[in-house]
Amino acid sequence: MLSTMQDGQLGIRRLLEAGSGFFGSSTVTTALTTSPEVTLETVSYARVGGNVARLAHALAGLGVGPGDRVATFMWNDRAHLEVYYAAPCMGAVVHPLNIRLPGEQVTFIANHAGDTVLVADASLLGILRPLLPAMTTVEHLIVAGDAPLDELRAEIRAGRAAGRTGPGPTVHDYDTLLAAESTSYPWPELDERQAAAMCYTSGTTGDPKGVVYSHRSIVLHSLNVCLPGAFALSSGDRMLAVVPQFHVLAWGIPYAAFLSGASLVMPGPFLPAESLAAVIAAARPTTAAGVPTLWQNLLTHLVAHPEIDVSSLREAIVGGSACPPSLLDAYAERLGIALVHAWGMTEMSPLGSVARVPAGLTGEGARRRQLSQGRFSALVEARVVGPDGTFLPTDGDSAGELEVRGPWIAASYYTGGDSGAGAAGTPGGPGDDPKFRDGWLRTGDVGTISPDGFLTLADRLKDVIKSGGEWISSVELENELMAHPCVREAAVIGVADDRWGERPLAGVVVAPDARVSPAQLRAHLADRVARWQIPERWAFVEEVPKTSVGKFDKKRLRARHTDGGLDVTLLAD
Ligand code: AMP
Repeated sequence: MLSTMQDGQLGIRRLLEAGSGFFGSSTVTTALTTSPEVTLETVSYARVGGNVARLAHALAGLGVGPGDRVATFMWNDRAHLEVYYAAPCMGAVVHPLNIRLPGEQVTFIANHAGDTVLVADASLLGILRPLLPAMTTVEHLIVAGDAPLDELRAEIRAGRAAGRTGPGPTVHDYDTLLAAESTSYPWPELDERQAAAMCYTSGTTGDPKGVVYSHRSIVLHSLNVCLPGAFALSSGDRMLAVVPQFHVLAWGIPYAAFLSGASLVMPGPFLPAESLAAVIAAARPTTAAGVPTLWQNLLTHLVAHPEIDVSSLREAIVGGSACPPSLLDAYAERLGIALVHAWGMTEMSPLGSVARVPAGLTGEGARRRQLSQGRFSALVEARVVGPDGTFLPTDGDSAGELEVRGPWIAASYYTGGDSGAGAAGTPGGPGDDPKFRDGWLRTGDVGTISPDGFLTLADRLKDVIKSGGEWISSVELENELMAHPCVREAAVIGVADDRWGERPLAGVVVAPDARVSPAQLRAHLADRVARWQIPERWAFVEEVPKTSVGKFDKKRLRARHTDGGLDVTLLAD
């Protein structure tokens, strides 16, 4: 028997119409300067809605049609938000490029995605210009902000004269392009399964892989992001999106904001701790989202400058890599800000789980859940798979690789062309890709799931240290080391060992003005982890290398060790 219900298509257009209509007085605030003083631009969602229509007209005028990829090379700001809505609502696909990737990866991604239009912030032209000749599919470059565009045009022409391949893009100014256009647009009816946005994985192993999100997946994910058990967004909130718009669509926050009416605060390029602290004090967000290293840097700055008023922040979402418990405690105790731990992946739009303590729970049980990666969304199915492929019980104890499936989780990677985003069995489907099994995504993360749905990650499969047949969690050692007051950062990698196969090596960044020895750190760990897990190899480093999205880059740390670039102290009992 079929239902009697309507079958409306889920589309980003509904988010745009609700955001710019019902919540038209909510605002997006972008930081324009932070020094010598903070300057903010605040624009209502109603005006953003008008600009989105203008931009859609302009894009259509440049020949953008259904399915065409509109790339961005931008910070988090108002114009970027406008592209997030204009491209998908007109039937095209928004594709944020990661501005921090090495140039050859940016061009690889732009060419692989077949981007035809590129919208860039003027402040990023210095990085972008040398990449343009290698972007073979980009026909139009739209620049937001002040820049000497005639100079840029001349440079592109000179490139052509010098025999560079392709005609090079035509350059436009964002504001000029929009100025003459209408603030309403005849938005098309779209199939909810149609591509709306795409992002590439950060590609720490092999080439980056494209994930193509649909209108349906983005709308369902947005609903999930807003839930009280997730980011708890409502029209009374102002959310500071520190997580870049080029990293998994800023965790879906720009879409969730229009759905809930929450206002947005966009930091632009002002991400160093001192600038960010100034933006928080001036724009007064109530909540925020970013990776642990960012919150760590901000904490150090705020502790040194207690006069900075960040009291508007009720909480901040922390995810993307494991949040050390010491960081969570420091925010609660020193600043009265609750860090809320969340887990996800590019392939998951990204949100999978959020660590909010169930009402009424106190003591050890509450603490365990607060420090976990969080409780799965009801619409995300998860299972734990042992090394021999057997499914393990979700008893909070049995650890294995985590596999997930659900309506905002990728079924395959983009393989190029227009039909490349298919599900299993269609062109571009998962095929033999080992990341997918029977309609499930293999996350590469190792952990346990408790009977009440909380995920606790031990490690990534490729980071876990296999010592004498036992597994050592690099994340647990890092968390315990970072709980030492003299340690600012710690990254633990597995290195070859004649006797045990692999043993942990701890790379430690000492806190400013502190001194600590490997022997003291071993003694600290002795109270906290099993004796056989304590590292014998120690290297003090200036900084732990970071990926383009601010996570510990253990691949680079490993390479440094292999190349003999780490000064290792060996210390055993
Ligand atoms: P990305 O696709 O770049 O966002 O990376 C996804 C990966 O980041 C996951 O598979 C995890 O290994 C890691 N990750 C994300 N959030 C967390 C978290 N809260 N704790 C530990 N690891 C995390």
